[in-house]
Amino acid sequence: MSDQKIIITLDGWSSCGKSTLAKALAAALGYVFVDSGAMYRAITLFFIRHQVNIADPLAVEKALGSIQLHFVFNPSRGASDIVLNGENVEALIREMAVASRVSEVAALARVRQFAVQQQQRLGKEKGIVMDGRDIGTVVFPQAELKIFMTADKEIRVQRRLKELQATNPAITVDMVRENLEQRDYLDANRTESPLRQATDARVLDNSKLSPSQQFEMALLWAREAIRKANAQ
Ligand code: C5P
Repeated sequence: MSDQKIIITLDGWSSCGKSTLAKALAAALGYVFVDSGAMYRAITLFFIRHQVNIADPLAVEKALGSIQLHFVFNPSRGASDIVLNGENVEALIREMAVASRVSEVAALARVRQFAVQQQQRLGKEKGIVMDGRDIGTVVFPQAELKIFMTADKEIRVQRRLKELQATNPAITVDMVRENLEQRDYLDANRTESPLRQATDARVLDNSKLSPSQQFEMALLWAREAIRKANAQ
């Protein structure tokens, strides 16, 4: 394979398995994987801890000025953990307390500007797989491969439930369904960069696909896009 690296974006509904696929794809290609949702979640954690009034633009601005985000590779996960002001918050940001607030915070224009700027910087050298909601439409509209992931809602609920119950057995199916519906609704209906399928995205409905089947499909698309980029 020649050296021309590309940008791969994975957008889609909550709990579609975007990060799992993005991570596997990045590992197979020797690319960097970035979970953009982790950035919005870490910002939300900071806002919760500091009781930032999201209706007050000055308070939001001040809070963002105090936030530094980094990623640090965690060999046990084979992916990067997010670090908020020096603290590894990877586990904390997955909790329901953050999940239930993140979509309100991510809807703020200033928050998006803050996160998108850092995401674009991470993609400067290409060779990156980034998952999120607006990566193919706003962050990297020029990406060589855009994947839009979708899956049946109940299947997504069950997958997420299993994941959350591994660390918190008190989580119920209704809690997960409500959170998923709320996030999907807010993400798709916000004014700033709503979740949309890019017109040039390839759709991957993984309701009936195993992780290895979706990986094979995405890898095929990626190799095709890399070949095309190298032929130009
Ligand atoms: O991907 P994940 O489910 O962890 O993302 C958490 C939340 O962050 C989403 O529900 C959405 O509100 C927000 N998000 C976003 N844009 C992105 C990635 C995530 O608005 N690119």
